[in-house]
This record gives sequence, structure tokens and C-alpha cells, in this order.
Amino acid sequence: MNLLFVFHCFVFLSSVWTVASDSCDRGKCRTVRNVIYQDLIPHYRAVGAKIPYSCPFFKDKDRYVVQEEHKEREHSTRWTCGYCGKSFIGEIYLDGHLSRRHKESIYVEPDSVCLSDYCEIFRCDILSGVAKPTFWDVALCMEEDMIDLTQDCSELMSKCIPENLSWNASKTLTASLSKSVCSYLTCKSYYDAPDIQEEVPVGISYVVFTTMLCIGLIIYYCVAVNYFWLDTFSDSYDFEEPRAVHPESLFKSSPPKMDIPPLRFIPPRPKTKKKLTIVDKELIDKSDIFGQKSFAKKISDELKS
Ligand SMILES: [Zn+2]
Repeated sequence: MNLLFVFHCFVFLSSVWTVASDSCDRGKCRTVRNVIYQDLIPHYRAVGAKIPYSCPFFKDKDRYVVQEEHKEREHSTRWTCGYCGKSFIGEIYLDGHLSRRHKESIYVEPDSVCLSDYCEIFRCDILSGVAKPTFWDVALCMEEDMIDLTQDCSELMSKCIPENLSWNASKTLTASLSKSVCSYLTCKSYYDAPDIQEEVPVGISYVVFTTMLCIGLIIYYCVAVNYFWLDTFSDSYDFEEPRAVHPESLFKSSPPKMDIPPLRFIPPRPKTKKKLTIVDKELIDKSDIFGQKSFAKKISDELKS
């Protein structure tokens, strides 16, 4: 009983752990990673420094960085797994494959970082184009919230300044990092989005087009088979010439003959007049309660006379 309880606890905890490990949004991580690689790393190169280990953006801490490096993109509709060579029509499908088949390459040590945890500072939804700011988003923006967010951003960036850097280089790098990320954390600039060249969803249109083509071909061949071979749509029939019957057919072309005996003439029975009895006559007389018969007889006798 105790072993069974322990086993159920283990299954429950492993399920929770699996869900927790998948709660790190790969797409949002990519958005943060792109900002780091495209906007922040050039500032480090400018001062001849590297991202220190104390910074959450230290490359080896990235939970998915190894898997991201094993993605091969030929074009927007062909993504190949660098581990097993399997190809997919979209990056999201390759992400699912990596999560299921290559879990061992996800960095899950205690110092691993899920970059999507910093999405509020990096404005993931705005930069990725997932969320379009509405009028009310801008109108209801609280400047106090933005001040708190800016403070969080400054603390985060202070962890990313190398200790061995000179005072000037440190000051330059701090200003550059703040300008690239923290300066947007105001109600006026938070919703500023760069011009994103949205990729045409060729993969989806390819799947839809192929499906529609297959359905069209199936319908075409069904109609063609019925029209040319099965005569389902034919409206003319030849009633004069009997159809050929297969020699092994169970049903014969002519109806089966039945032994029916010839009809015999039966003479009608002669009608016999039944003699009225005394009782019948009395009953007839009693039935004439209105005296119609006697009145008619009287009239006829008077006419005869
Ligand atoms: Zn694979």
C-alpha cells in the first residue's frame, strides 16, 4: 500500500515537473534572444567585453540555446532537426519535436534561465507582433508601473556589466544597454514597434492548397467513374433489346413458368322460391305498422274497379 502511494506521488511529481519545464515559452524566448544577439551583444563588442556569468543573458544559461543551434532552416516551410535529420514545415513543429524527442539537450541545471521570464522588460508581445496595442492600452497606461519596470530593467542591466571593465567603458556600456532596452519602458514609447517584415505563412497555405486539391481530385474521379462506367447519370434506356444475362447469373432473363390449372366453368345455382309460412305472413303484417301496404292495396283495388 505504501509502495503504491509512493509510486503515485512519483508519477504526479514527474507530471508536474514536465508541465513546469514546458511552461517556458520558446517563442518568447526567441524574441528576447533576438534582442540580445542583435542589439546588446554589439555594445559588448564595441567596448571589447563579453556578457559575464552573473548576467542572466550568459549564453550557456539559456535553457534552449543548444537546441536552437541544432535547427537548420532551408526556408520558411522547411525546418530540419540537427539531431536526427527530420524535417518539418514550420518552426513550431520542430520545437514540439525537440521537446518530445531530444529532451536531454534542454539545459535544466539550477542556473538555467528561461529568457521569456524577462518578456515584460523586453516587450515580447510588441516586438514579435503578437499583440497590437489598442487605443485603450495606450490611454490606460500607468506611468507609475513604467517607473517600476524601468527600475527592474536597470537592476537587470547592472548585473550584466563586467566587473573588470574600466569606468568609462562600464559607463558607456550601461548607457547603451539602457538605451536599447530600458528607454522604451515609458507610456510614450512602450508600444513603439519596429517595422516587422511578416513572413507569408506559406506553410499553412501550402497545406490548405494540397488538401483542397486532394478533395477536388477525389470528387472528380468519383463523378467520372459514375458517368463513364456505371451509367448513374444516363437518362436514356433501351427497353427493346433485352440486356445480356451473365451465364452464371442467379437470375434468369425470363420469368419462371408456374403450373397453374385451367379455369373450369361452374354453372350458377338455380334460385328456389321459399314458401312463406303462417308465422312469416303474420310477421310481415305486423311489420307494416304505418299501414302503407294496406293503403296501397286499397288504392290499387279502387283503380281496378
Ligand atoms: Zn530530431
